[in-house]
Amino acid sequence: MSIKENYNAIKNQLPSNVQLVAVSKTHPVSAVQEVYDLGQKIFGENKVQELMEKAPLLPQDIQWHVIGHLQTNKVKYIAPFIDTIQSVDSEKLLTEINKEAGKHNRKIKVLLQVKIAAEESKFGLEISEAKDLFQQCIAGNFPNVEMTGLMGMATFTDDQQQVRNEFSTLKKLFDELNQLKTLKTLSMGMSDDFPIAIECGANSVRVGSAIFGRRDYSK
Ligand SMILES: *Cc1c(COP(=O)(O)O)cnc(C)c1O
Repeated sequence: MSIKENYNAIKNQLPSNVQLVAVSKTHPVSAVQEVYDLGQKIFGENKVQELMEKAPLLPQDIQWHVIGHLQTNKVKYIAPFIDTIQSVDSEKLLTEINKEAGKHNRKIKVLLQVKIAAEESKFGLEISEAKDLFQQCIAGNFPNVEMTGLMGMATFTDDQQQVRNEFSTLKKLFDELNQLKTLKTLSMGMSDDFPIAIECGANSVRVGSAIFGRRDYSK
């Protein structure tokens, strides 16, 4: 299928309250432009260098989201323009984002990335750490950060029940924190598991290969 057919098929599967982040990592500017021209405004990238190369060549009203592990020393490059950093996985990173956003007199939206997968390799905060950072946010410790929700990735497995349990764990935390301060965004679900994520309460999904096709890391 073409990018256009893929994109329209995904859009048709999403309830109207679910936001789509089109994950364009490894795909060329021309492909991003094609999806933009279909009406998509929110794109996700996981590498700062790639984002810095692409962003200037694309429409200025794109809302860029960082979705991958972000090193603190890279925050300064994206602070002037980034819309949302979905992958906040440490207090150190949040402190740096707050500092760099302040230099540009802006607020950067962030999601706290929570580790819900059983896999060892995944980045993210433990639930207790996420609660602690959340408390610090509502206490006003990071005035140049707008903490709008949570992000999580499920284990890469065919076991749908496991994926469902992991997403449900994050939804439960989201509901709990939402009692203390209203949160907008629960970002979970990718090409292979977004329908389950939506069933479990996601209102934002990050879809790459189901729109752009498979990624080629050899280039
Ligand atoms: C790459 C990536 C995605 C998109 O993955 P697909 O399986 O291609 O949809 C979503 N979220 C994160 C954090 C990613 O790194």
